[in-house]
Amino acid sequence: TPPTRDQILQQLQEAEVKFLRLQFTDILGTTKNVEVPKSQFAKALNGDVTFDGSAVEGFTRVEESDMLLRPDLGTFLIYPQFSREEGERGKVARLICDVALPDGTPFDGDPRQVLKRQIARAQAMGFEMFVGTEPEFFLFERSPSGVGTTVTHDKAGYFDLAPIDKGERIRREITNKLVEMGFEIEAAHHEVSPGQHEIDFRYAPALETADRIATFKFVVKRVALEYGLLASFLPKPLPGVNGSGMHCHLSLFKGGTNAFADPGGEHGLSRTAQQFIAGLLDHAGAMVAITNPLVNSYKRLVPGFEAPVNVAWSTSNRSALIRIPAKRGNSTRAEVRMPDPSCNPYLALAVMLAAGLDGIEQDMEPAPAIQRNIFKMTVREKRHHRVKELPSDLREAVDELEKDDVLRRALGEHVLDHFVEAKRAEWREYNATVHAWELERYLDLI
Ligand code: GLN
Ligand code: MG
Ligand code: MG
Ligand code: MG
Repeated sequence: TPPTRDQILQQLQEAEVKFLRLQFTDILGTTKNVEVPKSQFAKALNGDVTFDGSAVEGFTRVEESDMLLRPDLGTFLIYPQFSREEGERGKVARLICDVALPDGTPFDGDPRQVLKRQIARAQAMGFEMFVGTEPEFFLFERSPSGVGTTVTHDKAGYFDLAPIDKGERIRREITNKLVEMGFEIEAAHHEVSPGQHEIDFRYAPALETADRIATFKFVVKRVALEYGLLASFLPKPLPGVNGSGMHCHLSLFKGGTNAFADPGGEHGLSRTAQQFIAGLLDHAGAMVAITNPLVNSYKRLVPGFEAPVNVAWSTSNRSALIRIPAKRGNSTRAEVRMPDPSCNPYLALAVMLAAGLDGIEQDMEPAPAIQRNIFKMTVREKRHHRVKELPSDLREAVDELEKDDVLRRALGEHVLDHFVEAKRAEWREYNATVHAWELERYLDLI
């Protein structure tokens, strides 16, 4: 149960907290905050702090510029100290907020609201979705003047036990900070690429996990900065090596038991699981615009780097978009391997939930699971197995999203319109740029 308003006020006072950050997320996934001093703590907890919404990317509706920040009391935490100077300035606490219009109604453009709507839809069907996630990221050197580079701090690889290097020290420090903040970390390890790391946290209800992903990114960047490094969640910062994904392990629970498990079902999966998987696969081509929202995201989704390209599922093979890990019983889950950590976690979990629930509602049937390495299948074999490919770039993905009525409804017109508009502009800008590759390839030759 979340703490009450008075309990939080008391904790703020006892810990001598100086500032309270009221956080929310814009449509593109950037965390925003309004920081208030001690004198405003009571007002903030009452949900009476306003901010100018028209200044936030994707929120623009001038007539609704005074928006309210309604704190979710369950998200209260006091930040650990990231540096000594910071400690001297006084403790900072945070509350994640829902955004409301001046009359108190929830704001359509608030991504947290979008996720909450899908959670309510699941609940009406008797389900609660749990999500565990495996975000990956790179640690890069900064130049002496502090500018980020793409020079990795090490040359280690997957699960390497390097002599304790800077990266490992930072990873431990990040883990410690997260644990202090109430995260349950299940694993932290070096990833396949040089300078690449992964930290996995325990599954939790969808909203809690979305909040945690946002917090996680902030902590990783903050700790890396303290060590003079740049932490980046860019999906494909280095050509020729693995990019960074954010696998999401999804499960539905009904009345305290895992609704995906059925010892008598095919692969030990229930009908509900099959339908949910079918829904995810059916909407994958549109979902990808939200779960992989950058021009750069599509440079990760290419064959050969453990990231999915084909819309298929498997109980064994990691080349599929959805893998069903071996554990059954209450651990039965679908690992969606497509998302990358540049996504807006609220919108990403919302579209995945919406897609899966649609599969249940429409009683969809997935194509049979594929147990072979899909990267090794011929075009004919893929067609035979009903394996489609994901959109190959952001433009195609956004077009697919616009055509998908289920996801449109899940996002709502406000979020959809602003998202599509922002992404089309991003694509146009990219497309009008002359890239280094073009000059290298053509300049002399033509
Ligand atoms: N980095 C890979 C990706 O892009 C995943 C690698 C792994 O976790 N085995 O999804
Ligand atoms: Mg992993
Ligand atoms: Mg990994
Ligand atoms: Mg994984």
